[in-house]
Amino acid sequence: MNDHADATAERAPVPAAALDAIKQALGSKGWTDDPDIMAPYLMDMRELFPGRAALLARPAGTDEVAALVAICAEHGVAIVPQGGNTGLVGAGVPHAHGGEILVNMGRMNKVRAIDPLNDTITVDAGCVLADIQEAAADADRLFPLSLGAEGSCQIGGNLSTNAGGTGVLHYGNARALVLGLEVVLPDGRLWDGLRGLRKDNTGYDLKQLFIGAEGTLGIITGAVLRLFPKPRRIETALAAIPDPAASIELLARLRAALGDQVTAIELMPRIGFDMALRNVPGTVDPLRGRHDWYVLLEVSATQEGAALRDGLEAVLATALEDGLVEDAVIAETGAQRDQIWFMREAIPLSQKAEGGSIKHDISVPVSRVADFIAEADAACIAAMPGVRPVGFGHVGDGNMHYNLTEPEGADTEAFMAEWERMNRVVHAIVERMGGSISAEHGIGQLKRGELRRYRSKTELSLMHTLKSALDPQGIMNPGKVL
Ligand SMILES: Cc1cc2nc3c(=O)[nH]c(=O)nc-3n(C[C@H](O)[C@H](O)[C@H](O)COP(=O)(O)OP(=O)(O)OC[C@H]3O[C@@H](n4cnc5c(N)ncnc54)[C@H](O)[C@@H]3O)c2cc1C
Repeated sequence: MNDHADATAERAPVPAAALDAIKQALGSKGWTDDPDIMAPYLMDMRELFPGRAALLARPAGTDEVAALVAICAEHGVAIVPQGGNTGLVGAGVPHAHGGEILVNMGRMNKVRAIDPLNDTITVDAGCVLADIQEAAADADRLFPLSLGAEGSCQIGGNLSTNAGGTGVLHYGNARALVLGLEVVLPDGRLWDGLRGLRKDNTGYDLKQLFIGAEGTLGIITGAVLRLFPKPRRIETALAAIPDPAASIELLARLRAALGDQVTAIELMPRIGFDMALRNVPGTVDPLRGRHDWYVLLEVSATQEGAALRDGLEAVLATALEDGLVEDAVIAETGAQRDQIWFMREAIPLSQKAEGGSIKHDISVPVSRVADFIAEADAACIAAMPGVRPVGFGHVGDGNMHYNLTEPEGADTEAFMAEWERMNRVVHAIVERMGGSISAEHGIGQLKRGELRRYRSKTELSLMHTLKSALDPQGIMNPGKVL
């Protein structure tokens, strides 16, 4: 499906001396080579990249990570860092040759400190995202990173993929939420950059190197994250709209009326609703009648009072009069709000039941989203008659999950073999519009060939320079990204 042949090349087995030293450094609770226990850690979420590993290491603290990496560096052994294993590009699983150590960070799951007046929380890298959100809420603060996998993904994985999700419109992606990092470097040295500073111009901003690096430059062991005031009021609406362009105009109007109180906007096509209603138990169509497109809108305020809802209602009322909105509902209760969000989350969950799905995670300038969808739909259907495009997602960030579901009755294996050809169709449009072939999921194994195709020689050579400066032996998550 992709050009990753060199990544799966043979590698020498891990020397017994290295395995013995690692086992000793981690103690009996810190490792396993039991195939049954290891199995779920070796397969990626989409089941595209089954792997093998000599050992699953589960370090309990930063010192153990440093000891483990130092042993690997001494013996030239490759390491694959892993968080919650919810990544979608095969970045957090080992290759099939088995000559790597898989390092799962799940035992490092402590909140180290909360400083409410500095609006920061300091955490172990293995903390599950939802647990960090909960710890922030307990301190009457908000940690705004939010995504469908938040119940199992870990902050170390979120930072290593520079995760996006539904809050980017207002709060930025994971990169924007980090003040400090603690990282074990590929030679086993510890870099303690756990500073909670908002201003710090002391040379290169090293933490940014590791954010979005997909574990190829070091293992993140801790982070200082930014917290925000907890919203006192959240209003969530679902609007039926005639076309994707209406969602962009609606966003502009909402922003004009409510400024940065607009915290989420998610676009969904009818075909996505149909798939969700067919395949995901508990989904309910929130509006009567069928409409071609829907948009989920969320606005938040730190003040109590009706002003927020009044503002949202006023924008929707004018949009209805102007034909920009065909119908809309504003959630009256928390349960209704959850129901609306569940429809959004159910769209990706529903696709497996419809057969093969060729996924794209693209971004274009927000002003080009509608053009992108129109052009990509036409081009994909022309290239493969009967294919069912399902473009949905974070429209306010210009980020579409543009998934192609197999034609009804198609042979799934034959359809999936077309992934590369359909990449060319979709990514050519993305490139022409000045967009990105990976908006939030990263490169991993899945998109290495695409990275080479769409990034300039200068960009690629700078990336290789950084990689070889930090990891001259090439032991940190080899065959991912580059
Ligand atoms: C239902 C669902 C919804 C999703 N929605 C979104 C979304 O809206 N936005 C989005 O951006 N993503 C989304 N994702 C993708 C995924 O959840 C994110 O990429 C997430 O950030 C991965 O975190 P993880 O802990 O599972 O990392 P893993 O999958 O375990 O690893 C991902 C990468 O990070 C590296 N890594 C992990 N931990 C460390 C560490 N401590 N130090 C160094 N490297 C490390 C791994 O080597 C790998 O390269 C979704 C996934 C699912 C299944």
